[in-house]
Amino acid sequence: MTTIYDVAVIGLGAMGSAALAYLAGRGAKVIGIEAKYPAHALGSSHGDSRLIRLGYFEDPSYVPLLQRAYENWRSLETRLGADILTVTGVLQIGMPDSKIVSGTLKSSALHGLPHLVLDQKSMAERFPAFRLDEGEIGVFDPQGGYIRPEAAIMGYLKLAAADGAVMHFGERVTAVEPSDDGVTILSNEGRYHARKIVVATGAWIAELVPELRGMANPIRQVVAWYQPSDGFVAQPERMPCFLRDEGAEGSYFGFPVIGTDGVKIGRHAHFREAIDPDLENPPVNDADRALLDGFARKRLPSAASVRMKSTTCRYTMLPSEDFLIDAIPHQKNVVICSACSGHGFKFTSVVGEILADLALDGGTSLPVDVFKFERHVS
Ligand SMILES: Cc1cc2nc3c(=O)[nH]c(=O)nc-3n(C[C@H](O)[C@H](O)[C@H](O)COP(=O)(O)OP(=O)(O)OC[C@H]3O[C@@H](n4cnc5c(N)ncnc54)[C@H](O)[C@@H]3O)c2cc1C
Repeated sequence: MTTIYDVAVIGLGAMGSAALAYLAGRGAKVIGIEAKYPAHALGSSHGDSRLIRLGYFEDPSYVPLLQRAYENWRSLETRLGADILTVTGVLQIGMPDSKIVSGTLKSSALHGLPHLVLDQKSMAERFPAFRLDEGEIGVFDPQGGYIRPEAAIMGYLKLAAADGAVMHFGERVTAVEPSDDGVTILSNEGRYHARKIVVATGAWIAELVPELRGMANPIRQVVAWYQPSDGFVAQPERMPCFLRDEGAEGSYFGFPVIGTDGVKIGRHAHFREAIDPDLENPPVNDADRALLDGFARKRLPSAASVRMKSTTCRYTMLPSEDFLIDAIPHQKNVVICSACSGHGFKFTSVVGEILADLALDGGTSLPVDVFKFERHVS
């Protein structure tokens, strides 16, 4: 007899693994299908660390979702007995009228979030790793920090398994065929049936969701790790995670020394270089290294002195640089999730809950208007 699943989740990276855990936790009969293997390094969710912060400069409307994300990360840690989210504080540095600094201040004021404004002198005293230009300031978000992405994904998969989810790894979904009463899923291994599906295939999403072709665009991202020349200036106690607004040069993000790895640095969206998700990322090249080394020398001279390693990753950018989490119009059995634009990971713990709500209840009480399909299609 053919099994009919309540929900099939396609892609078990960040968003898919969380969705599977929430669905299985609610007692649904679920299957997850992943083309590669758990917490692999070929998508968007590897590299040891992802920033989380509360005074969201992008838009104050994200703050309630972040508050829920924090609660959900803590509950994941409790269930696993593991450290997933570490609070170091996050500094947002730039000119007072820059997008990152002014946006952080706006979100913090609107939501009454604790924060500290530090001028150049106070920054030098408290956080000596950072070099500021005349007039620049730092806004310290004491609740910010970093999440361990691989541990989070493995954790959600373990919970999903414990709650009875079926999981297939190394199996690629090749097509989905929605009908009025469900969806048929075709893969290189077989054929499945589910009442609803969640498509969370990251950089590959447009391959299964033609509505997103030309809209969800994968680009190449590069990050590098550096050892400090002053061994203790880059420990989390003296160097929090950071975002830095460089005006026309874009923005950079970074992490203090975590474990034995050095300081990690990247420029948001790097060179905005389009990639074919089915091909291997072009390896790190001289231009990539020159960009990140130049930033390290200028802005973190004693904290990021010697480059140790570098790697590539991929962002999936939507034109708005927000997320799209919704059922496809006229195909209510297909819920899609494109939650990257370079800043999605911190929301994984709440996106999993939203996806489970949308798939099982057809809606959610969480504030998701900003993620709706109509908003992204003109
Ligand atoms: C370098 C870098 C730094 C970042 N920094 C931050 C940060 O500091 N803070 C933050 O909040 N966010 C950050 N982000 C963004 C964040 O990591 C992403 O939003 C998040 O990882 C996206 O998760 P995802 O589930 O959409 O994609 P993924 O985790 O890549 O999952 C998609 C999965 O789908 C699978 N798949 C694809 N096609 C198929 C198919 N046909 N059949 C079956 N499976 C399939 C893939 O193998 C993959 O496992 C960063 C991203 C990068 C790359």
